[in-house]
Amino acid sequence: MAESRNVTGSKDDLLADASRCMLMRFSESSCRLCFDICPHGAVSLDGGLSINPQQCRGCLLCTAVCPVGALEQSSDFSACLARLSKVPEPILGCVRTNECSNGTVACLGGLSEEHLLALCHTLTGRLTLNLSLCGDCPNNPMITRLRQRLDAISEAGLSDSRCHINFAESAQDIHYRDESVDRRSFFKSFSNALFKNAAVILSATNEQTERRTEYAGKRLPIRRKLLNSTRNKLSQELVVRIRKHFDSCVSFDDTCTRCQGCAAICPTGALQTELSDIPPTFDQLLCTCCGLCREFCMDGALRISTGNSEDGAG
Ligand code: SF4
Ligand code: SF4
Repeated sequence: MAESRNVTGSKDDLLADASRCMLMRFSESSCRLCFDICPHGAVSLDGGLSINPQQCRGCLLCTAVCPVGALEQSSDFSACLARLSKVPEPILGCVRTNECSNGTVACLGGLSEEHLLALCHTLTGRLTLNLSLCGDCPNNPMITRLRQRLDAISEAGLSDSRCHINFAESAQDIHYRDESVDRRSFFKSFSNALFKNAAVILSATNEQTERRTEYAGKRLPIRRKLLNSTRNKLSQELVVRIRKHFDSCVSFDDTCTRCQGCAAICPTGALQTELSDIPPTFDQLLCTCCGLCREFCMDGALRISTGNSEDGAG
């Protein structure tokens, strides 16, 4: 478990790679998501992405909204998921709650919709999010966001009835038991299909994150990798709903000049040049709907549609 800490969050819990920021790739990008969500005024986008270490309290809210992985959390979520998997009714909290949680992350503000989905579809029974020490924490504005994210996946029909996530805001609501089951019982406690699903998620997210600094580097954000691993083994019905909620589709109209600029600027590799005299090919699983390709296209030839809206990205 994480080392005992009496402060939630620190700038060391945040990994920032300014070269991945959409504004660094294209100065006219309209993305301000991290700036808008930071409750501490720690993000500056003037002249490029930078985080003020004195103001950053490590709430990690920015990591849950950055669509390109320029801001990500440094903690190993897969290890936390593995620890939670060993307990029948686990408790997940921040590092301050180390003594009364079965698994911890730096701050619960970093739990994106993708993280919540992975928790829902990997664990069984009831998962309690330990908010008992959030009252006096400067990061507590994250609670509203966390509730909104859980509501969003629930309203989209993406939660799994096998695992119910609930919030515990006071110490009386925490029923902590340090009862990690042994390895044999752990394997028995999963249905075969569910365990395979968990194994896929764990192995996929255990990969060391490579930080690239060259501007042309393509990389899938950790959140998107987690989502793709989660949906890999789910029922067709759930996969369709996940697609509707998270995925987008890029298409080109007749004004496309085949310049391939969108493929060059796409930070994830979702757009690829196959032949130079046709528009780039598109891979939906690699697209995070960041909208950079549409903003960058000088001919206005590119459309992005999501499951819920036409041209709704960015
Ligand atoms: S959310 Fe990500 S891409 Fe958008 S401005 Fe912030 S760091 Fe850049
Ligand atoms: S295809 Fe466009 S919207 Fe999708 S990740 Fe690449 S640049 Fe962003």
